[in-house]
Amino acid sequence: MSELTGNRIRTTAGKLGLPHLAETINEFTRRADEAKMGYLDFLDLVLSEELAVRDDRRFRQGLRLSRLPHHKTLDEYDFSFQPDLDPRKVKDLATLSFVEAKANAALLGPPGVGKTHIAVALAVAACRAGYSVYFTSLDDMVRNLKAAEAAGRLANKLGTYLRPGVLVVDEVGYEILERGEANLVFQVISKRYEKGSIILTSNKTFSEWGQVFGDEVLATAILDRLLHHCDVISINGPSYRLKNRLKAIERDTDVA
Ligand code: ADP
Ligand code: MG
Repeated sequence: MSELTGNRIRTTAGKLGLPHLAETINEFTRRADEAKMGYLDFLDLVLSEELAVRDDRRFRQGLRLSRLPHHKTLDEYDFSFQPDLDPRKVKDLATLSFVEAKANAALLGPPGVGKTHIAVALAVAACRAGYSVYFTSLDDMVRNLKAAEAAGRLANKLGTYLRPGVLVVDEVGYEILERGEANLVFQVISKRYEKGSIILTSNKTFSEWGQVFGDEVLATAILDRLLHHCDVISINGPSYRLKNRLKAIERDTDVA
């Protein structure tokens, strides 16, 4: 390939928004020469690599915007530590058919059983599959919506929680909400109903939500929208956080 042609391809690829081709044209042609590639195989290689680079960039950008607290995956989740949890239920969710169907998933259980871990893992998978993702604790969401409401910008702020294909609402039930706060949550849940998925985690059973939202009628209205299309996974087992802590304490007392 002449230098002139190489330069022209680089410029054209740049203009077409194909940065990977622009950067690696020499490498591509070397590989094509070495493998004695035909025209179609060469074109296939160039296009599929460009697409892979683009998908990867979009995935990383999506993760940055998602505000996920970490990027743990299901491979890092030790199912043997929660024998009562059926791994198939979680792996079914990881196929993301509930996201495709704009349905919800709820992970319930006491602290430390991995509710947030699994919610994040599902969100990372959704992000990789091309869905937009946003992570928030319930309390942060309520605080932000309240502040926006006070500043007359509620509609604008609601968009943060309505736009993403997948909204992760973590830690429902840690703080008791006032009526106005519960009403803001209702707005998010009802506006997302059948429009976008919610993955939520809670340390409370649904029957306790009346107390969490300070109002049985409002709690029922929220649950009605949320649970109409929802996979519920209850994890009733030991805390993984305590497992490591207890081991450390046992070790220390052994030494003493
Ligand atoms: P929860 O949200 O239920 O309180 P987390 O998801 O925050 O619990 O889990 C607490 C910590 O323990 C996290 O670092 C998480 O990655 C880890 N963890 C929990 N359960 C498991 C498990 N079964 N296998 C591996 N790590 C786990
Ligand atoms: Mg958690």
